[in-house]
Amino acid sequence: MASWRRIIESTLKKSLSNSSLILRKIPLAGFTSYRIGGNAEWLIIINSIKDLKTVLKFISEYDIPFFIIGAGSNLLISDQGLKGITIKLGKSFCYIKVLPNSSKNQVVLKIGASTTLAQIVNYCKNHNMSGAEFLWGIPGTFGGAIKNNAGAFNHDLGEKIVLVFGIDKNGNELSLRRDEIDFNYRKTSIPDDIVITSGCISLYYGNRKEIKNKLSSYTVLRRNTQPHGFSAGCVFKNPLTFPAGKLIEMVGLKGFIYDGAGISSKHANFIVNYKRASMLKIYELIQKIKVKVENYTGIILEEEIEILPKTKEVNKWLDLKKSLV
Ligand SMILES: Cc1cc2nc3c(=O)[nH]c(=O)nc-3n(C[C@H](O)[C@H](O)[C@H](O)COP(=O)(O)OP(=O)(O)OC[C@H]3O[C@@H](n4cnc5c(N)ncnc54)[C@H](O)[C@@H]3O)c2cc1C
Repeated sequence: MASWRRIIESTLKKSLSNSSLILRKIPLAGFTSYRIGGNAEWLIIINSIKDLKTVLKFISEYDIPFFIIGAGSNLLISDQGLKGITIKLGKSFCYIKVLPNSSKNQVVLKIGASTTLAQIVNYCKNHNMSGAEFLWGIPGTFGGAIKNNAGAFNHDLGEKIVLVFGIDKNGNELSLRRDEIDFNYRKTSIPDDIVITSGCISLYYGNRKEIKNKLSSYTVLRRNTQPHGFSAGCVFKNPLTFPAGKLIEMVGLKGFIYDGAGISSKHANFIVNYKRASMLKIYELIQKIKVKVENYTGIILEEEIEILPKTKEVNKWLDLKKSLV
């Protein structure tokens, strides 16, 4: 079989519409909130369902490693970048529609996967729709937020989901009802090889003043508790016993600076990329925190951010580095 690398331009490029883009060796740092990450071997920006199906069938036929990137706000990507194909959904997947089965009080929105959470919350505010305010301040896309079951202030997106639409690795369209998906703490049962294209959420009509007040209070809460700068939000999931940030503070690491990166002195569960830190430095810092917290408290912290790539070689390399910490 011909190597996919040799034919990707000749075959795939020709089968896609002009609105989708196939790009080679694109630095992923510009696509992540950490501003870290080496080159995507190929980055394909997709702007139609038909093109998405074509790309997924090509990936499947040649068994190509692939990754779907949203706003890159929960990712720590290796400085070596990602092999294979990175898929990003473009502007055609950015929309919000009110579905006709909405009633006087209840409203169902169909939202494209590349719509940002900020766009959703602003739309809801402007149309007096309530129930999505808790998403305010989470810098992701709707697709990434569904996949991660993003949440804050004691709510998560799973509570609002009615349906999720996607394309599987063979290019087939699928829809999943809420009760067919397990929504857990910052994860779902949606398989990694399904590209979420859109979803429906159920909200209700509310009072604009109350919606605005809620958003203002969330803005203040975030401003007072979270640092500015390049980060991916909370690095660790909160264990049942203590918040991860408190544990990190308890072991004396709050404010610790490490080669261009640092543990925020405002919120110890944030690692900030202050001065062009490498992925490895952030990774080492994560290991230092884990080792110290486990030694002092016996609690093993689990990463909330996703570290990429997930291949065996990289894990071996990372384990080696871990042993040096
Ligand atoms: C300052 C800051 C504050 C944050 N606060 C919060 C918070 O309060 N609560 C919270 O939950 N998170 C928070 N986060 C983390 C992050 O914003 C969320 O996890 C967000 O939902 C990730 O969305 P994304 O589009 O950036 O996804 P990415 O980071 O790009 O990807 C995350 C995962 O989703 C998958 N994915 C992305 N798009 C699709 C798609 N279309 N189909 C299938 N899979 C897809 C990716 O493959 C990856 O596995 C914060 C991050 C930052 C930087």
